[in-house]
Amino acid sequence: MRLSEAIRLGAMMSPQAFRTLFTRDRACAWGAAMLAVGATRERTAGSARSRWPWAFTVSVNCPSCRRSRLVCEVIAHLNDDHRWAREKIGAWGAGIEPTDARPLGDVSKPAWRDDDDRVGRPSRVPLLRADQVIK
Ligand SMILES: [Zn+2]
Repeated sequence: MRLSEAIRLGAMMSPQAFRTLFTRDRACAWGAAMLAVGATRERTAGSARSRWPWAFTVSVNCPSCRRSRLVCEVIAHLNDDHRWAREKIGAWGAGIEPTDARPLGDVSKPAWRDDDDRVGRPSRVPLLRADQVIK
């Protein structure tokens, strides 16, 4: 499951929490993502890092205040400091996450879906035929 989808799915499962992953019945944006993928509360950090490693290595500008941080930090920052709804954080995440973000060992799953929700792989750019290149 993509991180943006997990955040939005988890948001439907629990009210929003701030400055903590979980309370007894609430979850922040990261907590929501972990709920959605069924991670246990004790193993959340390592689980998030192995599922969505790009979020821990890619830096982006905060869409609200423009400060540059790691994606994982911006998600927490939007939740805690800007008080964005998790649905909004998920929608923002969908716009920045790599289209080939897949968990390791999950290679049988399609890489992406196009606008018509057809499953495809990112190899649709037609190769140039030799006679078009060599004149
Ligand atoms: Zn900010």
